[in-house]
Amino acid sequence: MKITEVKAVQPETEGAPGDWRGWLGQILVRVDTDQGLTGYGVGGGGAAGIHIVQTVLRDLLISLDPTAVEDLWEQMYRLTLPYGQKGLAIMAISGVDLALWDLRGKVAGKPVVAVLGGQAGAVPAYKTGWSPGEVLTDSEEGYSGVKLQVGKLSGTEAVRQLGEMRNTLGSEVKIMADAFMSWDEDTALDVAERITEFEIGWLEEPLPADDLDGYERLCKQTSVQIAGGEHEYTASVFEGMMKRGIHAIYQPDVCWCGGLTELVKIYQMAGKYGVRVCPHRGSEVWALHAIVALDPDPLAESGRPWMTWVQGQPAIEGGRISPREGSGFGVWFDEDLWK
Ligand SMILES: [Mg+2]
Repeated sequence: MKITEVKAVQPETEGAPGDWRGWLGQILVRVDTDQGLTGYGVGGGGAAGIHIVQTVLRDLLISLDPTAVEDLWEQMYRLTLPYGQKGLAIMAISGVDLALWDLRGKVAGKPVVAVLGGQAGAVPAYKTGWSPGEVLTDSEEGYSGVKLQVGKLSGTEAVRQLGEMRNTLGSEVKIMADAFMSWDEDTALDVAERITEFEIGWLEEPLPADDLDGYERLCKQTSVQIAGGEHEYTASVFEGMMKRGIHAIYQPDVCWCGGLTELVKIYQMAGKYGVRVCPHRGSEVWALHAIVALDPDPLAESGRPWMTWVQGQPAIEGGRISPREGSGFGVWFDEDLWK
């Protein structure tokens, strides 16, 4: 089998980011083959990601065998080393890698969860929200947990809102908090100490992603589980973080960190280092198959509401979600996206 075309597009939908800035410009990648099979994946980087996919990565991949996924990943990584390693180039590679895994499933006639050695089944899912009101409403609609975005709040206000949520929801519902890299070390430690009594599932990204020394100190000083990693790239970087004890819970985004090839390695490393992996926006199919197949303590985060162009994306029902049957990732796309 040979690759005959590699293309990417950033579908426009209501509420979607307009371009590559702000990290959220999600791109759809397709890899066509001479056997009539097409693989699809989602990566990041908006217009910049599309440029990388349709120039250097396309030039590399045309005429190569798409089933040699791990070897192709290595070639894409090495080719983009001088300007890649993190950020946009790896986000672009992620989309191609996921398209190759989709093809791997389609060639085998199996869903990706089965290619990974797992069995189809439902896993618990949680909802991320931006206000206590939104989160509380969502919790009534049936989620296994809720996460409040607290990055725009002062530490004191974050503690107050989380305490109120715990009072309202009772002791059974999982509550998490995400500060989106917004606080300094003193604030993070102060908040962590004050929310201990609320039994918060984890405190996510309280510090900038590259403040590794700060995270190492924070993890040693608090009993609250510190989570992070959605803004980190490649399995080798995650291994370095695990060795240093930078987080208790690692949250790679499969559409940004290098794709499923890297997420599989990150799960293997987590077993070795005795830490938990909880992928960013894990209810989207791109991470969901790996969570179902590989995760000993699965919990899938709600996805991007504007990515309505991913047809066949399963819904969260009764607080749980499962991948659909069908080969590859089990999703499909409107041909009009490519016009
Ligand atoms: Mg987050």
